[in-house]
Amino acid sequence: MIVATVFSGKKVALFGLGGSGLATASALLAGGAELSAWDDNPDRVADAAKMGIPVADLRNVDWSGLAALVLAPGVPLTHPKPHWTVDLARAKGIEIIGDVELFVRQRRLQSPDCAFIAITGTNGKSTTTALIAHILRNAGRDTQLGGNIGTAIMTLEPPRSGRFYVVECSSYQIDLAPSIDPTAGILLNISADHLDRHGTLKHYAEVKERLVAGSKTAIVGTDDYWCTMIADRLGHTDKPVVRISKRDVKADGYYAQGSRILHAAGGTTALFVDLDGISTLRGAHNAQNAAAAIAACVSVGLSKDEIIAGLVSFAGLAHRMQPIARRGRVLFVNDSKATNADASAPALSSFEPIYWIAGGLPKEGGIQPLSCWFPRIAKAYLIGEAAPAFAATLGHDVAYEIAETLDRAVSHAARDAGDDAGQEPVVLLSPACASFDQYKNFEIRGNAFVDQVSQIPGVTMLVDQMEV
Ligand code: ADP
Repeated sequence: MIVATVFSGKKVALFGLGGSGLATASALLAGGAELSAWDDNPDRVADAAKMGIPVADLRNVDWSGLAALVLAPGVPLTHPKPHWTVDLARAKGIEIIGDVELFVRQRRLQSPDCAFIAITGTNGKSTTTALIAHILRNAGRDTQLGGNIGTAIMTLEPPRSGRFYVVECSSYQIDLAPSIDPTAGILLNISADHLDRHGTLKHYAEVKERLVAGSKTAIVGTDDYWCTMIADRLGHTDKPVVRISKRDVKADGYYAQGSRILHAAGGTTALFVDLDGISTLRGAHNAQNAAAAIAACVSVGLSKDEIIAGLVSFAGLAHRMQPIARRGRVLFVNDSKATNADASAPALSSFEPIYWIAGGLPKEGGIQPLSCWFPRIAKAYLIGEAAPAFAATLGHDVAYEIAETLDRAVSHAARDAGDDAGQEPVVLLSPACASFDQYKNFEIRGNAFVDQVSQIPGVTMLVDQMEV
């Protein structure tokens, strides 16, 4: 645990007692803060009290004596409307921060030289975060991985010289981290998302910009309008800006040309690495993620050989276009995280021919936006509530069957893919739907897929089932 001594002896209010809130409360208490913690859910308050966390209804505390309000990232700061604790804090002029801010203050106090790589973007955050942490660990660096990726930041090992932090940051976390100052900050891309919490795309982009604006080296994807504007703005400051793109070379930075990642510097362009053959980094979207990871690792001092060794041995992240098994020429890919059509597009654009398992709880718009990839689909196996609607969209363009359940879809798709004469037929679970009609979440759905594939006779698993 990171002990947060930055509020030692000070009164702090904390709201939001989920996993990261409890971790933050423990870190503040261990560091000597006088804490009053609360949640709108009485069960959470009771659980926290049982753990020895001092709880108090924040409506009844004396706000004028408080040094800060620490909010869990899920609690609305601005939209759709500020939470009542936010109103109370603002009325008294009390700063409002989150766990990432606590971490950056503690790092500055304790070990400002230890490397801190922060990653944000609308898509690809977890993949890029995991890839960077893998490259660093593979190169023997003492690496801590956490943040939005699942491990609360204050539960990581404490800052010390020679330690590397790789931290995924959601826009909510950045909003609550006014002094975020990564050694290398990555902004991958910006598209419409979470507008319920940020109001407008402009505000969402402004929040994301803070992460790279505060960083020593800013690494910015320049494949969308908002990020290009941000890179241009930062380019007018003294800050080193490294541009990354899955398209062409426009300025110094790292660019993808198909599977080749090029490094452009001072008017010359050289091949850095060819991702061809790295099955976990297929597709243009992963070229963007890999280019960002390369730029970050270079900026914290890794050698080209160390970076390439890490890229080549990356196992991929569970449920994101993850190659999980082979049977002869057939590859099985788990992309259960794809819970809407947009999220399925990268996988559909990366393989051919595809035996596509899709469906679940449908999202607005269905799979019509994916129609440009339909020619790659040999057959679709439709499951869950979305099956009839997806069948109607596929119509006469794509062969399909209503498989209803995942186990039937897996066995039929494996059989048909085995009969395909293509070089690498792919059985792909990329549902373009939420899972809730048949599974509690996308992880459980993906694990069920891995389990069912593992039972197919003659299959060689590429992942340890315990790791998924
Ligand atoms: P996040 O953590 O931002 O949600 P993930 O790394 O978990 O992103 O990837 C989720 C899905 O988003 C992937 O399965 C893939 O379909 C898509 N994706 C990944 N990286 C990118 C990218 N750089 N650009 C666009 N889409 C991406």
